[in-house]
Amino acid sequence: MLLEFLSLHHFRNYPQLELDLTGYQKVALIGPNAQGKSNFLEAIYVMAFASSFRTSRMTELIHWNAQGFSIRSRCRRERGDDFLLGYETRKNGKRLIQYNHTYQKRLIDYIGHLKLVLFSQGDLNLVTGQPHRRRLYIDLLLIQCKPGYYKLLQNYNRVMKQRNVLLKSFKEYRSLETIPQVQKDNLDLWDVQLSQLAATVVQQRKIMLDALLPLIKQKHVEMSGLCEELDLEYRSTITDMDAEGILDLLNQKRRQDIFRAQTTVGPHRDDVIIKYMKRDLKAVGSQGQIRTAALAMKVAELCYVKEKIGEYPILLLDDVFSELDIRRQQLLVEQISYDGLQSFITTTHLDQTVEKLMKEQGLILHVREGKIR
Ligand code: ATP
Ligand code: MG
Repeated sequence: MLLEFLSLHHFRNYPQLELDLTGYQKVALIGPNAQGKSNFLEAIYVMAFASSFRTSRMTELIHWNAQGFSIRSRCRRERGDDFLLGYETRKNGKRLIQYNHTYQKRLIDYIGHLKLVLFSQGDLNLVTGQPHRRRLYIDLLLIQCKPGYYKLLQNYNRVMKQRNVLLKSFKEYRSLETIPQVQKDNLDLWDVQLSQLAATVVQQRKIMLDALLPLIKQKHVEMSGLCEELDLEYRSTITDMDAEGILDLLNQKRRQDIFRAQTTVGPHRDDVIIKYMKRDLKAVGSQGQIRTAALAMKVAELCYVKEKIGEYPILLLDDVFSELDIRRQQLLVEQISYDGLQSFITTTHLDQTVEKLMKEQGLILHVREGKIR
């Protein structure tokens, strides 16, 4: 997949930008700190997922004092056809999304057209960081490759939120026994829905992880030069339970959930454990081993999309090279030099590794204060 045209209007520190990228496979954004390099990648990410990797408040992305921002793009699929995306957020929070000039009411009709993999410095902590990061790793792949998953996840989160609101309202009662029956019945209804959705989410994630695992292992062998075993295990708060089992568990946890006004079990609390020689890599790995595993996971993500949908997603690399030693930089370059893979790379200075990568079909953009030369 190729991003051929991008325009930004009042996005972050870009008042106005129009960029024709036709024909370029590698695009490097170079400039000192705080000039707008990451902002540029963020715009592409917003285009793809209607959310940001840096904030959950989309109005933060509006250029200071402006009434809203908009992003427009033209992308080309490998089979030759192109499509247009438009994304807008107004100051009052209103969002307008377009696919091929037609406004879309639902996010599910918008998200997933533009396939994208982001690799940021935070992803170097994929192994050691918060579980949320590892869940997102699986979820973003599912959203892009498994039709219906985004809707499922949306439904799960919606039902959970509503359940939590109800739990919170129970705080005014002194004990579980004094809660009126009608309210308890209400909670029962939410629990039935939640347990069914939870079972499907976990099932889908496990299937994805199983499909991904051989690729991760292969990439890990290629990058580490070792045949030492890397393994990933989905660790669930509702291990191997069907909807009925989850419903029982929600019942058992009811007192605790009311006390905390939160749903304490479910896929939103799950994790993926990365194991090395059968041990938790987080605990036993060296910095270098942990990094290499993260790289393998990210490259596998690219290859999975390629396998699944027949073309590479767009790759965004935000400041990743500066954090890697020379050997790992080279390994990464080897792994992403595929024909047909378009990547966007930010860096403060053009070092040898990036320069080499840019040799063929490379475009170098200099970023200064929200302007691009
Ligand atoms: P680094 O090399 O440090 O990562 P960068 O070039 O990636 O730098 P960005 O994060 O892209 O930097 O841009 C940061 C700049 O954008 C800052 O100067 C910040 O003040 C500005 N900025 C952030 N949000 C807005 C906004 N809503 N409106 C205007 N400017 C903004
Ligand atoms: Mg940056």
